[in-house]
Amino acid sequence: MGEKSMGLSLKEGLLKEREAFVCHKEKNGGAGFKCDSESVSGAVSQRACVYCGARVVLNPITDAYHIVHGPIGCASYTWDIRGSLSSGEEIYRNSFSTDLLEKDVIFGGEKKLAGAIDEIVEKHHPKVIFVYSTCIVGVIGDDVDAVCRMAEKKHSIRVIPVRSPGFAGHKSMGYKAACNALIELMGEEKSTEEKIEGINFLGDFNLAGEIWIISEYLKKLGINVVAKITGDGKCEEIMKAKRASLNIVQCAGSMNYLAKRMEELYDVPFIKVSFFGIEDTKLSLLRIADCFNDPQIRLRAERLLDDEINSVIKELNYYRERLKGKKAAIYVGGGFKAISLIKQLRDLGVETVLVGTQTGKKDEYDEIRMLSNEGTVILDDSNPFELEKFIKEKGADLLIGGVKERPLAYKLGVGFCDHNHERKHPLSGFEGALNFAKEIDLTVNSPVWSYIR
Ligand code: SF4
Repeated sequence: MGEKSMGLSLKEGLLKEREAFVCHKEKNGGAGFKCDSESVSGAVSQRACVYCGARVVLNPITDAYHIVHGPIGCASYTWDIRGSLSSGEEIYRNSFSTDLLEKDVIFGGEKKLAGAIDEIVEKHHPKVIFVYSTCIVGVIGDDVDAVCRMAEKKHSIRVIPVRSPGFAGHKSMGYKAACNALIELMGEEKSTEEKIEGINFLGDFNLAGEIWIISEYLKKLGINVVAKITGDGKCEEIMKAKRASLNIVQCAGSMNYLAKRMEELYDVPFIKVSFFGIEDTKLSLLRIADCFNDPQIRLRAERLLDDEINSVIKELNYYRERLKGKKAAIYVGGGFKAISLIKQLRDLGVETVLVGTQTGKKDEYDEIRMLSNEGTVILDDSNPFELEKFIKEKGADLLIGGVKERPLAYKLGVGFCDHNHERKHPLSGFEGALNFAKEIDLTVNSPVWSYIR
C-alpha cells in the first residue's frame, strides 16, 4: 500500500532529508524508517540540547546543588519550567551559574568555576554539587573535571562534572551524561555492604507527586523503595541504590543506559514499566510483584488492582462514552510514553492518528507501529511544520504534547493535553488515568469549539 492509496501526500512539503523520519503505519510502512540520529539541520527540531537533557534528569535530586558553568542564559532552564516535587529539601529549585562573559571566554572560566564552588560551599555547606558544562565551555576547553577533582579534595564533598556541552549531540546524549554523573555519585565499585531488599525507581520525575502515588502502591504490596532516581531524589538514597535487589525503569529513554550500567557494575537486574493508563499500570504492578517470587506479594497486588480499578471504573466509563470516536495526535519526548498513550487512548475509544517522539528508539517505534491503526502517521524528531501538516490532514481533535507543542494546538484550534514536565496534576497510576480522561474530555468537548469556525 503506497502513500497515494492512503489519500494523502505523505512526503509533500517535507525537507528531503526528513523524508526517512516519517512513515505511515501500513504493511511495509516501517522499512527504512529512521530514528535515534542527529537532527536535520534547518528542520527546527523540537528537541532540547545536551545540557538541557542532562538537567532534566539530574535537577529533581532535591538536596544537590546544580552549578551551570556557562553564560547566564543556559541557567534559565530551571525548576520553574519542570516542577518535580520534593518531600524535603528545596535547594534544587535554585539555579547557580558562573555567568561566563566575554573576558572569561578569552581567558578561560576555570577560576570563576572554582570560585563559584567555594562560594556555595561557604554559604550553603552542600554535600553534593553537580557542575554542568555548556556549549561555550566545550569550545574554550575549560578542564571542568580537574576543577571538580580539586574542589572535592579541598572541601571533602562530592563535586561531580556533567559533561554536557550543548552541541555534543542532542537531548539523548544529555541523558547519558546525567546517567554517567549518577554512576560517579554511586561509585563504580560494587558495594561490600549487605544487599537491601527493595527496588530503585528509575525514570519518574515526581511531577505533581506521581512518584508518591506509585510508591504508595508498592508499599501496599510490601515492597520497599530504596532510591527514587531522580524524582524526589536524595543523594544519600542514590548512593545506596547499588545495594537494591531490582531496578524498575519507567522513562526508558533517559534511564535505560543507567539501568544497564547498574546491572553490569552492581548486578542489579532491571525491568521496564509504565504507570500511564490502567492497562500498563496493572501489568507493571503484576510484573514487579512476580519479580519477588512471593505469593503474598502477588496476592496483595491482585487485591490492590481490584480495589483501585473499582474505584475509578464508573467515572472512566462516563468519559469513554463522551470520547468515543475522537482522534488524537501524540508528540512526546520518549517512546515508552507514546506506547502507553496509544493504549490509554484506545481504552477511552480515542483513535491515535499521528504519533511521534523526540528521542524514541527503534524497538519502541516497532511497538508503536504494531499498536497503531493502518494509516497512522509515525514520525521521529519532528518540527512544527510537519506536526501542523499531519494534524490538519488527519483531522485530529486533540494534540498531546509539552510546552513546545501547546502553541501549535492553540494556533490550529484543536484540543491540547500537557503530558510533559510543566503540568501540575498527576497522570500516573489509577487516579492519574482518571485525571487524563477528565482532561481529554475537558479540552475535546469544550463548548468553545462551537464558537469558532
Ligand atoms: S545549546 Fe548551548 S548555549 Fe544553548 S542552552 Fe544548550 S548549552 Fe546553553
